[in-house]
Amino acid sequence: MRTSRLLFLFLLLVPLSLQAASQGRRPSSTGRFSPELTRELDRLHKAALESTYAYSQLAHLTENIGPRLSGSSQAAAAVQYVAGELKRLGLEVRLEPVSVPHWVRGIESGEIVQFQGQASGITQKLVLTALGGSVATPLEGFSAEVAVVDDFDQLNRLGRTAISGKIVLFNAKFDKQMASQGLGLEAYEQSVVYRGGGPTQAARLGAVACLVRSVGSADYRLPHTGSTFYADDAPKIPAAAVTAEDADLIAHLAAQGPERIHLTLTPQTLSNEPSYNVIADLKGTTRPDQVLIVSGHLDSWDLGTGAIDDGAGVSAAMAAAQLIRALGLHPQRTIRVIAWMNEENGLAGARAYAADHSAELKNHVAAIESDLGAGHPTGILAHIDRPGLEVLQPLGEILKSSGAGSIRVTDGPVGADISPLDAAGVAGFSPLQDSRTYFNYHHTAADTLDKVSPRELAENCAVMALLAYTLANIPEPPQLKPAATAGH
Ligand SMILES: [Zn+2]
Repeated sequence: MRTSRLLFLFLLLVPLSLQAASQGRRPSSTGRFSPELTRELDRLHKAALESTYAYSQLAHLTENIGPRLSGSSQAAAAVQYVAGELKRLGLEVRLEPVSVPHWVRGIESGEIVQFQGQASGITQKLVLTALGGSVATPLEGFSAEVAVVDDFDQLNRLGRTAISGKIVLFNAKFDKQMASQGLGLEAYEQSVVYRGGGPTQAARLGAVACLVRSVGSADYRLPHTGSTFYADDAPKIPAAAVTAEDADLIAHLAAQGPERIHLTLTPQTLSNEPSYNVIADLKGTTRPDQVLIVSGHLDSWDLGTGAIDDGAGVSAAMAAAQLIRALGLHPQRTIRVIAWMNEENGLAGARAYAADHSAELKNHVAAIESDLGAGHPTGILAHIDRPGLEVLQPLGEILKSSGAGSIRVTDGPVGADISPLDAAGVAGFSPLQDSRTYFNYHHTAADTLDKVSPRELAENCAVMALLAYTLANIPEPPQLKPAATAGH
């Protein structure tokens, strides 16, 4: 399908340039790069695919430093490490302050203590994990009857009488078939609304705690954590994710009769901690004031070691600069590597950057973020206008040989950390990745280094490096697609 689209574009472009020539105008400069840029991109491509730099950075971040939840000492160590590495590459590095939440996981346990057909003295253990930001139960936990719902509609139909005093389980299934067809992110977006908003919705009807079926596609009884968001006008109730298997168990037993769960969660929200975005500039030669961001987020959840989410993205962004430096290439615009802080539970780093740099955002030509793991890239996802797609076609031609030649235009932001920049009119890009296994491990204890293939990470580095270098050097980089409501 992608091949036919490229062919279609090719057929479309040929008559356009012929028409321009016949009318005595110079053919548009879109659709071709200078021979020098093409040569440089070819060199960069080869070097990126052979490089182990990103993988060694990822190994250090995950195995020597470990999980990097905002406010943790590992997050602080990671900031110092990445800053030091980028300095060593000869970049101009600075740390920009960000105040981040500091939430610490405690004891987390659950068991079904009463159910139909229960043998005397027997309980069923639940595998669960607190959602990020959750408040605690009493230290000894508490027991309550469970109410199982599939969605918000069912919750609201049951209403306060059925929900009050209960532990609500949102049992929305992650659409694994959708994920296996390559639409992992879309499947995630369908289910993640219960993790984010479920506890508040349940609390509004008097629920005493909230469980959500893990938002993920694994079948290994792994709970997936992630942020939940309490509304100011609702009680804050303890919230945890149970594994898909345990959600099934709870739902099956609830269908047979009254069921009680004992839940103990003892996380703590400590006071905010000072932290940093790491910002490192590879200065442009002829247009240094124009900035092109290449980025990933440095913080991670605490259960695994943050390899796919998002040590891989940070490592690939670092590698883009390292490769360009190692080949002695000189971007015309400034390539700014950013390791964002606090994507997972607050987006404080991204918001701080957009606010602190608001006056300069008109000089930001584009922002790239990789935050969907390190699966094989099939190309580039871009929030740009249609003419911009034509401008980038030669890059697609170069990346085609590593299977990453598809450039797909989308209608919204392509990364959480670059979304405030998108809102300010900065064009956004991310690698277009095979995400079929990403949500098996996302936000679980199994997000570890072994999930990243060195070859596939190198392929992602190639996309990031070549895209960054292209955007830093072509005369007119693509523009953000104007909002549909914008006038002429
Ligand atoms: Zn992430």
